[in-house]
Amino acid sequence: MVLLAVLVTVVYGNYARAELGLAQPWAYLVGLGFVVCLLGSVLLHELGHALTARRFGIGVRRITLELLSGWTEMDRDAPAPRVDALVSLAGPAVSLLLGGVATAAALVLPDRTLAGEIAFQLALSNVLVAFFNVLPGLPLDGGRALRALLWAMLKDRNRATVVAGWSGRALALVTASVSIVLYRVGLVTLLGLVFVLLVVLTLWQGAGQSIRLGRMTGRFPLVDLGSLVRPVLAVPAGTPLGEAQRRRAEDPRPDVVLAVADSAGSLTALVDPVAAERVPVDRRPWVSVESVARSRDALTTLPLGLTGEQVVRALQAHPGAQYLVTAGEDVVGVLRVADVAAVLEPRRAR
Ligand SMILES: [Zn+2]
Repeated sequence: MVLLAVLVTVVYGNYARAELGLAQPWAYLVGLGFVVCLLGSVLLHELGHALTARRFGIGVRRITLELLSGWTEMDRDAPAPRVDALVSLAGPAVSLLLGGVATAAALVLPDRTLAGEIAFQLALSNVLVAFFNVLPGLPLDGGRALRALLWAMLKDRNRATVVAGWSGRALALVTASVSIVLYRVGLVTLLGLVFVLLVVLTLWQGAGQSIRLGRMTGRFPLVDLGSLVRPVLAVPAGTPLGEAQRRRAEDPRPDVVLAVADSAGSLTALVDPVAAERVPVDRRPWVSVESVARSRDALTTLPLGLTGEQVVRALQAHPGAQYLVTAGEDVVGVLRVADVAAVLEPRRAR
């Protein structure tokens, strides 16, 4: 973002020097003013999304500003395609409105004055933000509107997300190709090309993330706690790690997880496999299991019977490597986050 801000300041500063005949520091100050205008425009644009979302009862957690686009984080997805479309198009609508007002002001104000220049900057930045964001590919607003349309047609939000994500990638490729052609024929400067390619790169990455998320969310129902849970082998506190690992190797059940139990036999801690692996083999007979274990109080508990989506939400809310799975008061076993990841992204896991 800083890189983009510097680029825009320089490109716009050079333009202001040539067009307005401003001296060097002032020209770049006008360039910096353009950056501030862009940020302000993006903020108002994001407020358009945020306030529309709240109107439909969707809470807003935070707004992140970038130079050409921002991001409004909501506490849940839109419940219906119509709401999704309205929330996503509210931002570009605000930008277009601001752009229209600023264009009118720029036309009225005298040319080659600071006030006229600021109005022109605001008009340019808002129209730019509106048109950039309305392009029909995820992660852009236009892409979310496209997803809403596909969602209404296909009745499957996740498939709609994947298709709109591929549309975003196609858009990135087209934008990159067009800007390279424009550079080759001399219509775009090298700095302008670098700027566009940086934007294209973020677009490409965002589209890829959308595709990934759409695929993963479609697989949430496949996360079956009952079949993913690993059995537990509890050893008494004070057992050397080497001895505990030997007992686990002899256990006929596959995927057994080592745990520590107190004298009454109730589970007090889970052995952290990463910490256990870090102990050198010749030290393992002298290290007790609880020194490489996480106490039960520090672990998140998942009751058996949660749906796949509920499990994933719980994992997102409480990041960790291992979770205790319980039925009532009893510990049924352990869920490893890597096992869930393998279900959600089988290709990556392989
Ligand atoms: Zn937007």
